[in-house]
Amino acid sequence: MATLAAVNADLNSALEEARADFTRRNPKSCSLYDEACQELPGGNTRTALYYPPFPLTMLKGEGARLWDADGHRYTDFLNEFTAGVYGHSDKTIQHAIERAFENGVNRGAIGELEVKLARLIRQRFPSMELVRFVNSGTEANLLAIQLARAYTRRPKIMVFEGGYHGAVFSFSAPNNPMNAPFDYVRAQYNDIDATLALIESNAAELAVTVIEPMQAGGGCIAARPAFLEALRDACAKHHILLLFDEVVTSRLGPGGLQAMLGIVPDLTSMGKYIGGGLNFGVFGGRADVMSLLDARRPDALSHAGTFNNNVLTMAAGCAGFGEVYTAERAVALNSFGDRLRNRLNELCRKAGLAMQFTGMGSVMNVHFCAGELLRYADTKAGSADLKDLFFYDLLERGIYLARRGMMALSLPLAEADGEALLAAVNDFQKTRGSLIPKL
Ligand code: PLP
Repeated sequence: MATLAAVNADLNSALEEARADFTRRNPKSCSLYDEACQELPGGNTRTALYYPPFPLTMLKGEGARLWDADGHRYTDFLNEFTAGVYGHSDKTIQHAIERAFENGVNRGAIGELEVKLARLIRQRFPSMELVRFVNSGTEANLLAIQLARAYTRRPKIMVFEGGYHGAVFSFSAPNNPMNAPFDYVRAQYNDIDATLALIESNAAELAVTVIEPMQAGGGCIAARPAFLEALRDACAKHHILLLFDEVVTSRLGPGGLQAMLGIVPDLTSMGKYIGGGLNFGVFGGRADVMSLLDARRPDALSHAGTFNNNVLTMAAGCAGFGEVYTAERAVALNSFGDRLRNRLNELCRKAGLAMQFTGMGSVMNVHFCAGELLRYADTKAGSADLKDLFFYDLLERGIYLARRGMMALSLPLAEADGEALLAAVNDFQKTRGSLIPKL
């Protein structure tokens, strides 16, 4: 830690020094990364996991802890970008997967657990009258969008700047050649008047409006309830389907943000933790829309997917979502998150620094700017280099988080882990305060 105090001449040199320290501490991760680069473009198979000079290789997880290739132990505050609600070694889920495997996998037939999981989901998300399973949140959104286009017989999709709905639906940059080639209408998050005007002018062609009730990848920016209510009304008026992407936000309460806000979308997509920590996605909603997929209909749309009902995910999902992340535990985890975020923000205020933690419940993101953040563009007022410095400094203090400053809590995290995070942030502010803009 001595090196941290030594170099704070300016942000650039502090960041350089932090990266050099990181490299010195992690020789094994460094050489594993060199090896990985020979097989995978950029040494990995998932862009979000890259950061310079090289990402850590994690070799083991247990409960709320992770161990990297060089033997450092971390408290996991990333938790697989929100999919890891259960931590790394939940016994209920482990036993369910083992039992499922004993009965044979890859049966090429309907099983009984997909019905059970669908029912568990409908009980907590009643707007999802009928559901279909897929393998990821990306796929859930892709299929929900195509279903909406087929149902409405309209081509266009409304999305929001800063939104993220999966590998082929990323709207943080003006043009993303990797996005699925739909006809998008891009609106500003939390801007009621401009969004309603866009809906009016595109109404005849808009099939669906896709929105995260809190933009997760966009920096944990919550939608104002009035904005979502206005969207709900406008979509209903013009027979545009409203698709809530609750891939992240479904964990914020027993019935997701839709229940907390009392807003009923036509369609919902989810994924992440609901499959018990295995590959998973689900989309569902109004029975009249979802019934287009009913194979008993002569005009049924086909929806395929070899692993849609794979028995390991179905078993892990029934155990995880049904028995472990119960409504009570969802409430408790999110109130832990609210308390922690409030205390983190209190630290920022007391230190007089332009630094804040946005988010809701168990999901949050640090930003190095002051004032209310209503949309992705607002987050750009904060320095990306400071976020990087925060990231490397917290890693050095044994806290694992996303490079972009996102954190998500898991069930095995204890109050003492929250205190450790607060101490690490406090220490960061003391050490680096001179580099952070003042309030
Ligand atoms: N939607 C949101 C809001 C997400 O945050 C993500 C992933 O982070 C996705 C969709 C895509 O899910 P997956 O990574 O399972 O494809």
